[in-house]
Amino acid sequence: MKASALAAGSSILAGRSPDALAAAYLSGTRSARLALTFKPYTLELKHVFTLASSSRSTTPVVLTQIDYGDLVGYGEASMPPYLGESHESAISFPSKIKLGKYENPFELETILSDIDAVAQGNPAAKASVDIALHDLVGKIMNQPWYNIWGFSKEKTPYTSFTIGIDTPDVVRQKVGEAAEFKILKVKLGRDTDKEMIETIRSVTDKPLCVDVNEGWKDKEIALEMVHWLKEKGVVFVEQPMPRTWFDEHAWLTERSPLPIMGDEAVQRLKDVQRAHGAYSGINIKLMKSTGMREAHKMIVLARSLGMKLMIGCMTESTVGISAAAQFLPLADYADLDGPLLLSRDVATGVSITKEGIEFPNEDGCGVHLREG
Ligand code: MG
Repeated sequence: MKASALAAGSSILAGRSPDALAAAYLSGTRSARLALTFKPYTLELKHVFTLASSSRSTTPVVLTQIDYGDLVGYGEASMPPYLGESHESAISFPSKIKLGKYENPFELETILSDIDAVAQGNPAAKASVDIALHDLVGKIMNQPWYNIWGFSKEKTPYTSFTIGIDTPDVVRQKVGEAAEFKILKVKLGRDTDKEMIETIRSVTDKPLCVDVNEGWKDKEIALEMVHWLKEKGVVFVEQPMPRTWFDEHAWLTERSPLPIMGDEAVQRLKDVQRAHGAYSGINIKLMKSTGMREAHKMIVLARSLGMKLMIGCMTESTVGISAAAQFLPLADYADLDGPLLLSRDVATGVSITKEGIEFPNEDGCGVHLREG
């Protein structure tokens, strides 16, 4: 009775066949159980990626799948080494999760709170399960998540394209490869910062955003740099100083002619309130927030505090990016170029093009894994 009512309600929402919906839901509630599987995978980057404190050419990920009746939800954990998660940790964590005990996949709040309590940390591993579960529930409801949350997919900002730290020749080459993107993101935080910006400005006058990844260690110099960057056509500056420097960031934000965005300083919901006052806005990433459920709460809170919002990513395939993209209609800035930096993507879904963000006509997060 309950399942039929739900299926009928969903079909009104979706305008699709009630039989198909009822079959999908009933097959899940009556005979199927949520079944979680996962496998490690290594994403290979087109270029060696250099930040203020590290370089790498691959990123370990874990691809997650939740089967339920005939439906499948897909998720991803991306674990850049500096965040402390690894293939080993991201595999051992989900092996502790017993999804089969939950009969109703719509109980996202209960299921994901339980998963969060399994162990401290492991935000990317938790996100991979959260994303797969959201993808699955969206498929049961026959709707993409931007619709379920009531966002307009027409209102998405252009994504920035990241130019990593490199020699002037390689930087000019990378800017050339990014010709079709309307806004570039530049990694700073070394003693060659001005040279990096001048190199880019020698080949393009596109708007730039700057990510310092905690690289500046003096607030007076940071303020001087922000003024210089404004003259160079920079739109905002992300995480200029160490994540624990809240007072210094508050001092800088108060005087800065550009928005100062917090990234490393803002991991989860509990960090948003503290960031208010220290930063103009926050960069939300599913791999930090433990997935879509908590990211949605962070967005609501940050908006209510009048903060700017950016939706960002780690090095992720289209699996993770398609989940993050569901939030873009609420964002001031988008930084979802993860799949564009890969030599090979593992999935199709939301695509990042020169015209902007393209959502597929698919339910859930819209992901399909590629063959092989
Ligand atoms: Mg950042």
